[in-house]
Amino acid sequence: MNLVLMGLPGAGKGTQAEKIVAKYDIPHISTGDMFRSAIKDGTELGLKAKSFMDKGELVPDQVTIGIVRERLSKDDCKKGFLLDGFPRTVAQAEALEDMLSGLGMKIDYVINIDVDQAILMERLTGRRICKNCGATYHLVFNPPAVENVCDRCGGELYQRADDNSETVKNRLDVNIQQSKPLLDFYETKGYLRNIDGQQDIDLVFADIDKLLGGLK
Ligand code: AMP
Repeated sequence: MNLVLMGLPGAGKGTQAEKIVAKYDIPHISTGDMFRSAIKDGTELGLKAKSFMDKGELVPDQVTIGIVRERLSKDDCKKGFLLDGFPRTVAQAEALEDMLSGLGMKIDYVINIDVDQAILMERLTGRRICKNCGATYHLVFNPPAVENVCDRCGGELYQRADDNSETVKNRLDVNIQQSKPLLDFYETKGYLRNIDGQQDIDLVFADIDKLLGGLK
């Protein structure tokens, strides 16, 4: 089960990704998470990525493609994978096709979670994340039981540096510009499946689950 999850920032990729990997037992490969963890660890990759991420810009393709190639060649990806946040450009998508065919693999579906831009702005600026376990919440749509405290592990919640409204607008603009040719690319390949992301979280997952049920 080789999957790519797409959608503009805030479309619910992270939430749906958690549900997909839990149910289908495949590794969750999020380039955003990989960069954030590299920044936290103070690695060379983290240093390279940080200046772009802080401005809401994409990290250069060369850097991003390199970390995905390394990750996909690991043994746990043999049973499948879920890519989240990659590819973001046609160059990345083409590189992904090449690296997969080199590994004797191919993409089954590109799942695109579709949400209006105005709703994304509201969702993104209210997002809060657990410092400890990375669980995501929303001040309005999915608040924790106790303000600022993670339901799952009791960790403290924070707002990601790139979730303030100016950076969010920039991130959306960059992503909209970049995603159109990417969606066209995957439509042409026949991989693209659009899912209505404006439904309740469980209904979005039910639609995805129905689609993936056909792959088993
Ligand atoms: P995300 O968590 O997916 O929203 O990613 C956060 C930030 O990491 C993005 O705004 C980019 O700066 C960087 N990033 C993540 N994935 C990619 C990618 N595939 N290509 C370029 N930059 C990326």
